[in-house]
Amino acid sequence: MAVGSSNDFDLIVLGAGTGGYTAAFRGAQLGLRVALVDEDKLGGTCLHRGCIPTKAMLESAAFNERIRHAADYGLNLPAGDVGVDFPQIAKRRDQIVTRMWKGVTSLVKKNDVTWIAGRGRLDGPQKVVVKLNGEDGTPGAGGEVNLRGTDVILATGSRVKSLPGIEPDGKRIFTSDDVLKSTTMPASVIVIGAGAVGVEFASMYKDLGAEVTLLEYLPAIVPLEDREVSKELERTFNRRGLKVITNARFDADSVKSDDEGVSITVGPEGKDRSEIRAEMLLVAAGRATNVENVGLETTSAEVERGIVKVDGHMRTREPHLYAIGDVVGGLMLAHTAGHEGMTAVHTIVGDPDVHAMDYAKQPRATYCRPEIASIGLTEQECEARGLPIRTSKVPFQAIAKALIGGEYEGFAKVIANTDTGDTLGIHLIGPHATDLIAEGSLALTLEAAPWEIGVATHPHPTLSEIMGEAAMAIDGRSINW
Ligand SMILES: Cc1cc2nc3c(=O)[nH]c(=O)nc-3n(C[C@H](O)[C@H](O)[C@H](O)COP(=O)(O)OP(=O)(O)OC[C@H]3O[C@@H](n4cnc5c(N)ncnc54)[C@H](O)[C@@H]3O)c2cc1C
Repeated sequence: MAVGSSNDFDLIVLGAGTGGYTAAFRGAQLGLRVALVDEDKLGGTCLHRGCIPTKAMLESAAFNERIRHAADYGLNLPAGDVGVDFPQIAKRRDQIVTRMWKGVTSLVKKNDVTWIAGRGRLDGPQKVVVKLNGEDGTPGAGGEVNLRGTDVILATGSRVKSLPGIEPDGKRIFTSDDVLKSTTMPASVIVIGAGAVGVEFASMYKDLGAEVTLLEYLPAIVPLEDREVSKELERTFNRRGLKVITNARFDADSVKSDDEGVSITVGPEGKDRSEIRAEMLLVAAGRATNVENVGLETTSAEVERGIVKVDGHMRTREPHLYAIGDVVGGLMLAHTAGHEGMTAVHTIVGDPDVHAMDYAKQPRATYCRPEIASIGLTEQECEARGLPIRTSKVPFQAIAKALIGGEYEGFAKVIANTDTGDTLGIHLIGPHATDLIAEGSLALTLEAAPWEIGVATHPHPTLSEIMGEAAMAIDGRSINW
């Protein structure tokens, strides 16, 4: 433990994932004496078991797919398949994670935050009891310390979960954590769940040469996205040879694994089920929040179905206790956790300019191929709210840089309120969509109408032009479409 002369802090942050460390660093920048507690490595799910390692592997997969088309670009590579060296993919993944981890670790010192390695538990709203890790990292071997904080932020995040009756074993039945520890490449994979995590892994394994079957209980893959985006992704997946079963129905006891592989008896609702086999089954069925055994029962904070209830400033019902990140449910994204962390800390210091969280202004990003990114309302959500809307849709085919890059599937869609002219939603599916949505994020933060996005000059030739074109298309003024 690196605790100084006193165990009293202005702010204690319990959990050092993206939410927790962002809150801790900003708190220190605002002049607070901050303790940051984690039983594991700084960086949490995103850095060690989520965003970063998955994107590193997806990059290898996309590179592999690109190389297959080398001849189209006038590059004659030796004939035959490109060999996939999965241990090297895993090594590169782990190197990137380690490098990022070292970088963020150095920021603890730079920001003058007190790092406390151990398992923490609230003891009332303003006290955290930490069972310290030993010198060698052994949990609890370093004794116990009581920390007192004027304010406490709970940022204990989430963990993988499976479906009832399906027991991941890391051999045939995997969770995302297992994939990210694995150094072997399966020849065939069944993925259960077509949310962001499921479609990313499905896309990755397909690009690395595996046979992939994707099962989704709901009628659409990426079911939270605009329906046109879901349909476009399903079309693209089908074209790439991924087998997609929506409305998928199976009984957990039909899942059988042995030395050869794993099988499941599944079919679309109302149709005959049949057995499919693969070398590996990946359960991508969402996350469980870490709200147990953290002492919430010693406070008056409200927890409903695993979610800590907070207001727009991340305040729980207990004065001085805040909660951020995956434990408060909702989008469960790293950048949202970070934003919530900053909102909590600015609220704590009484910043008069702090805004309540507005989740309609939080971008969402999925790194399958083609990528998906969105912000604001989907067309279906607008309809459900009875909002008067106009929409525009411009395909990536209209954008020169997309053709140059050789990836031009997908589109940008903008939704505006007919009465007020406000931008209600921006939806992208296509190359580098996850980078392009940053402009949508700025636009919604500044409350820009589509014409204001369109009036900004987008450099040519760039993929960013699709934002300008789609924004102008709302008023029938797209130039290149
Ligand atoms: C496979 C996968 C891919 C993802 N990809 C993306 C992506 O591309 N983009 C994106 O935005 N999001 C992505 N996410 C989601 C993102 O990782 C999470 O939303 C984000 O990590 C949440 O941050 P957090 O700070 O709330 O919690 P976490 O990152 O989960 O951190 C919580 C921390 O609290 C610690 N902790 C828990 N309990 C205790 C305790 N009692 N005492 C001490 N420490 C404790 C844990 O050790 C952990 O370090 C992905 C998630 C997964 C699983």
